[in-house]
Amino acid sequence: MSAPVTAREVRLAARPNGWPTEDNFEIATVTPEQPGPGQLLVRNLVMSVDPAMRGQMNDKHTYVPPFQIGEPLTGAAIGKVAASAAEGFTAGDLVVHTLGWREYALLDATAARRVDPELAEPNAFLGVLGAPGLTAYAGLFEIAGLTTDDVVFVSGAAGAVGSLAGQLAKLHGARKVIGSAGSDEKVRHITEDLGFDAAFNYKKGPVGEQLAELADEGIDVYFDNVGGDHLEAAIHNMNDFGRIAMCGAISQYNEAEAQPGPRGMFQMVSKRLTARGFIVLDHFDQYQQFLEHVGPWVRDGRIRYEETVLNGLEKAPEAFLGMMRGENTGKMLVDLR
Ligand code: NDP
Repeated sequence: MSAPVTAREVRLAARPNGWPTEDNFEIATVTPEQPGPGQLLVRNLVMSVDPAMRGQMNDKHTYVPPFQIGEPLTGAAIGKVAASAAEGFTAGDLVVHTLGWREYALLDATAARRVDPELAEPNAFLGVLGAPGLTAYAGLFEIAGLTTDDVVFVSGAAGAVGSLAGQLAKLHGARKVIGSAGSDEKVRHITEDLGFDAAFNYKKGPVGEQLAELADEGIDVYFDNVGGDHLEAAIHNMNDFGRIAMCGAISQYNEAEAQPGPRGMFQMVSKRLTARGFIVLDHFDQYQQFLEHVGPWVRDGRIRYEETVLNGLEKAPEAFLGMMRGENTGKMLVDLR
């Protein structure tokens, strides 16, 4: 395999104000270059679709730089080395890297990590054994300090991060694990397939009331993927000395203006709660430990994972918009093969 004559990439066409649409993306055709010294040309096979990309579509530097108009988007991808000018890599090697959203990626070999196809199928390294998996692991153990006495609530529980957070909590003997998700089918999936003790459909009634009904002993750990009404409801139902791992706030990402925070914040004081935000990028030093811990459970089926896969680079904007609307169960991916 060597560099093809042309390949496609997805670019940011315009910045959204509120909910993005297909018009915010454009597909462009480019000519991939041959790798220079120390570089790899990678044929991307599968790419990740992530909520964090919504933040990068805004003209604001947060923990990652914003996308630039007219430039290709980025995100995790698995690909096969098409041409290598770097020691230690040869054509055909399977690697994970962060230059997705394009059919071919030219990157420094130092930015590529080889994946072990014996451990799991390649897609898993973008989800349950990739950054979303490490997010669940770090959030639950390092940030929330999970113990076997804990009642745990996970929002976004049918998604890539949430589905693993709930299953890890169960496998580590948490007293009770409650999840929330946006459809009855997802609620069925997380209780019947993933082993959560209880779950509710947040679209069917007030989050606070539904949570209170299931969490009759209160909650000790809240793994927050959603923010907004879910965060308010969790604070209201927390037990004394409860811990909140603030992972994401997807209910807020498409708001054109910043929204007011949760009501009842004095409970942070009266209940002596801890809430701590975290970013997975700060936890990659734990990746090997995570892989050794969680990999065998994925291989022997004790941890289950779902994927929602759209086919073809041109489907990437639809996949992103669909994920924002909750059309995915488990990890949202785009297959480029
Ligand atoms: P998911 O696979 O969970 O996909 C996103 C899901 O969010 C959708 O399927 C949808 O499910 C749900 N959702 C969308 N809008 C709302 C809403 N208004 N209220 C409640 N749920 C909503 O994505 P990820 O697992 O990749 O990410 C989950 C969260 O974790 C996100 O907030 C993300 O930003 C965060 N994250 C944080 C990281 C970190 O380093 N801190 C790293 C990776 C992710 P439903 O049908 O249930 O509504």
